[in-house]
Amino acid sequence: MMQCPNCKGKNLGKIGIQLYYCWSCYLELVVKKDKFHIHQIEVDGSVSPLNDLFSEEERTITEDKLLS
Ligand SMILES: [Zn+2]
Repeated sequence: MMQCPNCKGKNLGKIGIQLYYCWSCYLELVVKKDKFHIHQIEVDGSVSPLNDLFSEEERTITEDKLLS
């Protein structure tokens, strides 16, 4: 099961192809190759990238996460 890189929770909903949403911290997670791209949805609907707040390691999706 995939984990949210921010809250480490598993409360992720799939909202599109390679697109997940964390219902715990309201972040949008886009899966590209083996990395999460993390966005925050602002109240006005705009999207802010938060990738800089996470390390490469935190953003990497390991194979066992994808397969489980
Ligand atoms: Zn989260």
